[in-house]
Amino acid sequence: MKNLKENEREVIKLINFFRKRAERLIEEGALSEEEQQVTSSCQKLEESLYIHAANRDAVLEKRDQLNTIVKDNAACPKCESNANLKFVTVEKNEQGWKSNRYKCRRCNIAFTWNRPNNPWDLVLFLKVVVADMEAAAQDENETEQARQVAAYNRDMMLENLAKLEPVLQSSDEELAEMEAREREMSKLIHQFKNYLLIEKIKLDTWVEPKSLRD
Ligand SMILES: [Zn+2]
Repeated sequence: MKNLKENEREVIKLINFFRKRAERLIEEGALSEEEQQVTSSCQKLEESLYIHAANRDAVLEKRDQLNTIVKDNAACPKCESNANLKFVTVEKNEQGWKSNRYKCRRCNIAFTWNRPNNPWDLVLFLKVVVADMEAAAQDENETEQARQVAAYNRDMMLENLAKLEPVLQSSDEELAEMEAREREMSKLIHQFKNYLLIEKIKLDTWVEPKSLRD
């Protein structure tokens, strides 16, 4: 149950209570039709809750993996080495792109690396670079060779973008679907929890203490 949210845990506890009660009643051969219905609604909700929770884990796990595909290849601006870098924090630049901030323990300086630390911001970054390359490839003041190199680099980056963008887009769509389902489930769980609480209260019938009857 480790990947369940608080509201999901709560309703599972209630479902477990009714399951145990139903098992006891079945043993005694005293499970009424109404209680049978409660039990089967519990089973249905429990099933869809676990399917949703597993899907949520899978979608989020995939995004975590996507985040790790970007290596920023940071190096200290002073000693130009990455040997003594220590990650400090994540910072946003003026465009809203997230980059890693590092400290070089040899030079004792801190700096924010000028490349994004995640693939979503990397796409935006690469588009700016592509535009720069495109401008360089068209620049009449450049040598023919420099223009060819710029055009080649532009094409390489466009190729990378064409691979990366659909992967990110499909992950974004999956996330949006999962979040929409999450909102539906939360509402369903809320309603079902209240329904079970009312059923539980109904079970709490008043029993006359024995001493008063004697
Ligand atoms: Zn350094």
